[in-house]
Amino acid sequence: MSLIIIGTVAFDAIETPFGKTDKIVGGAATYASLAASYFYNKVKIIGVIGDDFQQENVDKFTQHGIDTEGLQVKEGEKSFFWSGKYHNDMNSRDTLITELNVLENFDPIIPESYQDCEYLLLGNLTPIVQQTVISRLKNRPKLIVLDTMNFWMDIMMEDLLETIKLVDVLTINDAEARQLSGEYSLVKAAKKILQMGPKYLIIKKGEHGALLFHEDKIFSAPALPLADVFDPTGAGDAFAGGFIGYLAKVGTINFNNMKNAIIYGSALASFCVEQFGTEKILNLKDEEVATRVQEFVNLSSFTIEA
Ligand code: AMP
Repeated sequence: MSLIIIGTVAFDAIETPFGKTDKIVGGAATYASLAASYFYNKVKIIGVIGDDFQQENVDKFTQHGIDTEGLQVKEGEKSFFWSGKYHNDMNSRDTLITELNVLENFDPIIPESYQDCEYLLLGNLTPIVQQTVISRLKNRPKLIVLDTMNFWMDIMMEDLLETIKLVDVLTINDAEARQLSGEYSLVKAAKKILQMGPKYLIIKKGEHGALLFHEDKIFSAPALPLADVFDPTGAGDAFAGGFIGYLAKVGTINFNNMKNAIIYGSALASFCVEQFGTEKILNLKDEEVATRVQEFVNLSSFTIEA
């Protein structure tokens, strides 16, 4: 049984108030698969790269035990490229450039060895490609999580709504929840979005944590107050990867495990933002992850004497 993660494998150029990078490795599937690999050892990636994506970068997936058989290489083409600039509060950013390149005609081929997929993370990517992956799996996975962003809402809302119908969990940020639902109140937004198909909705609020909605239940997870945030890029993807990686590890889907999964996802996201790009989440130790999760527990647990 395995966890399949699809999404962009990319080059990013990032500008924050703390510095600027040239092209560095990024992409939704990159962050998500690295994060998931800390919890589950059968992570398989589906994506596409150009011949500009060096072998040493592909090797970093393999070193984390991530299967790259589903990562297509397009000779003579360029990898997906994204460039963004963060505002001073680091919670908002402007996309400066999105070059789809290899993504433009991406046909996701599922290797036979991936047909044992039990958990599927549809990371940020063209909604049609996300749907195609679902339709090409012989058996419906036990859990399908969808992550997306405003970019696809702006240009492919109809396709995105079709994809949303097919999944169990949707993860988006607060601005995207408002855009998708047309509601300002996140409670009203969640109500509407849960009627679009998913049974669970996670609304990420950057440095203010995340909310989980399911039926009439709401869980609020904190974000860890961090002294140094260098680069928020990939936090959402690391969150999604940590979230589904933890669920794949425990193997049972229920509200309580979802709550814990959100804490594990938040822990990986908190590491991600502490350095530029994937630097930090490439080299974590299991003990560091465990300590970080305990910090989340300590942060917001309290008892009240009645
Ligand atoms: P996040 O900060 O979690 O939203 O993810 C940032 C990552 O998503 C970057 O590494 C980008 O390469 C990738 N990305 C940016 N725009 C898109 C897009 N439209 N579709 C897929 N991936 C994207």
